[in-house]
Amino acid sequence: MNNETRKELTAWLEFYQELGIEGFYRRKPTTTGSAPILEAARPPQPMAADPPKHALSPAPTRTATAPTPTPLKPAVPPVPVTAVIRPPMPVVSLFDAAPARRSGPETLEQIRQDLGDCRRCKLAPTRKTIVFGDGNPHAELVFVGEGPGADEDEQGLPFVGRAGKLLNRMMETVGLKRQDVYICNVVKCRPPGNRTPETDEVEACSPFLYRQIEAIKPRLVCCLGAPAVRTVLGIKEGITKIHGRFYDFGSTRALATVHPAYVLRNPREEKILREDFEKIRDFLQGA
Ligand code: SF4
Repeated sequence: MNNETRKELTAWLEFYQELGIEGFYRRKPTTTGSAPILEAARPPQPMAADPPKHALSPAPTRTATAPTPTPLKPAVPPVPVTAVIRPPMPVVSLFDAAPARRSGPETLEQIRQDLGDCRRCKLAPTRKTIVFGDGNPHAELVFVGEGPGADEDEQGLPFVGRAGKLLNRMMETVGLKRQDVYICNVVKCRPPGNRTPETDEVEACSPFLYRQIEAIKPRLVCCLGAPAVRTVLGIKEGITKIHGRFYDFGSTRALATVHPAYVLRNPREEKILREDFEKIRDFLQGA
């Protein structure tokens, strides 16, 4: 070892001593055959609340010949814990939405009669037909959409336009039949220009939706699109983020997925709808 090397080695040792490192050990070669690495043997570390003095001391004075210290490895950040999302329950409970005079379980016919020629919100003047809902009154699966469109307003039935045809096709792909399910909307009258229903309209009409669900008692409610998810589950997160998840809804379960009209506008998103319908099928089959 020549003088130059000895000097450099001495400078390194002095530097590590200042850091509180008192010795070194040689790590055994790994099975992958990588070269052995010299590692510093650190003295016992104090508790985090009592940091070592050298950690608070100014950095050691460096000379032109002092070696560059190896930076300490940053602490590994803690692994984040996945939060369990529990959606808030709707403000109006299934029972609160029912009329006071009701003594036993309501039927869909009774709810429709109670709705009558409804004028409870500002959608009444522009509608042609009240689109109450359609399907099996004892269905295991209820679809809830946003509101009637032009075709639905004409015919008085939910999901009979292009979005309805896509809904039918999705049901067929997983072996569901339209006559076995029940389909309805958050609001029963068409919003002008197919706009999103406004808060006061949803508040006026949604009690009838809750009563429909309570009367049918399905095993699963499938919310189609953000307005249905907001009304049924009280979740304001984007539908493309929360789709495909199951939530508790009263004594039943609910799942959020995208509205078929959204898929018509974004054909590449059909995959989302198809995958969520497969989850619905698996749920109903008890998988
Ligand atoms: S949307 Fe509902 S609350 Fe409003 S008028 Fe139609 S049925 Fe009545």
